[in-house]
Amino acid sequence: MSKILLIYTGGTIGMVQNKETGALESCDFDSLVKHIPEMEQCSAEIDTFSFESPIDSSDMNPEIWGKIVKVIADHYDSYDGFVILHGTDTMAFTASALCFMLEGLNKPVILTGSQLPIHSIRTDAKENMITAIEIAAAKDIDGHPMVPEVCIYFHEELMRGCRSTKISASNLAAFASNNYPLLARSGTDITYYPEYIRPFNPDSRLIPHYKMDPSIIILSLFPGFGREIVDGVLKNDAVKGVIFRTFGSGNAPRNGWLEESLSEAVSNGKVIVNISQCATGFVQMEKYQTGRGLLDAGVISGLDSTVEAALTKLMYLLGEGLSQSEICRKMNLSLAGEITL
Ligand code: ASP
Repeated sequence: MSKILLIYTGGTIGMVQNKETGALESCDFDSLVKHIPEMEQCSAEIDTFSFESPIDSSDMNPEIWGKIVKVIADHYDSYDGFVILHGTDTMAFTASALCFMLEGLNKPVILTGSQLPIHSIRTDAKENMITAIEIAAAKDIDGHPMVPEVCIYFHEELMRGCRSTKISASNLAAFASNNYPLLARSGTDITYYPEYIRPFNPDSRLIPHYKMDPSIIILSLFPGFGREIVDGVLKNDAVKGVIFRTFGSGNAPRNGWLEESLSEAVSNGKVIVNISQCATGFVQMEKYQTGRGLLDAGVISGLDSTVEAALTKLMYLLGEGLSQSEICRKMNLSLAGEITL
């Protein structure tokens, strides 16, 4: 029987309503588990680990990512897989961050949560949690984990962590993997799609990384984007990297000053990554004249990366203390299956 470590960080799944304010607030892990007696019927032996104060995932940060990595690294040899209960709001950021921080991962790390608290009568928490545990425990005929990578399981769909994004604040299907196929789908059975799952590597060893450098800003273009504000950001010494959200296949206005400002920022050592505002498709800066200017300014392509993956990958590479050219090179390599090459 597989051994699974269930890690509780917080989120709606374990929240209760404050009787005075009506707002949902985090509660402790024991009261959460009380609502899921079905856990005993899972085909896995489950141990639990709870962070001292469960949080709304809006309070998630790189320091807590480091703590999650530490819990997994400390327990890596004793468990076959890990399930992380997490709020949905920043789950895709955490899943993406863990993809880079858990280098060489060879075991399932499945994040899940719910849109409705566990004690609500229409809750989606039970199915999400029980199926996430089943997936983390699943082995192939050789006894290797079915899904040896960081994923999000939510509302019948298993997605690669660094390809997922939150798409709905109210639908039970809250996540999507717009630029990469699902890794599994659950219905009456769980159907895996091994052709899309990162294969088990018998020689791989876990190398945990703890340091993320968040000296990054996300700039999203719009018609009327003004020089003064943009220069204020690009000339700020605290900013080491920019996720630049552009139009369509990576285009920006040809107003003369933008290329100049970006090019100056690149010369000052900043890394600028072009990510499309579109939910699907690729950045192809060479396609239009409006994109070529960015290429000439030294902006690098984020290809078909999600914002969450590009941001956390850049945090990770900056955290490793790499040079600007090395970061730019690695941004265009697939480290955890986050981009299509
Ligand atoms: N605000 C909650 C959180 O992210 C939402 C949720 O869990 O669905 O923690």
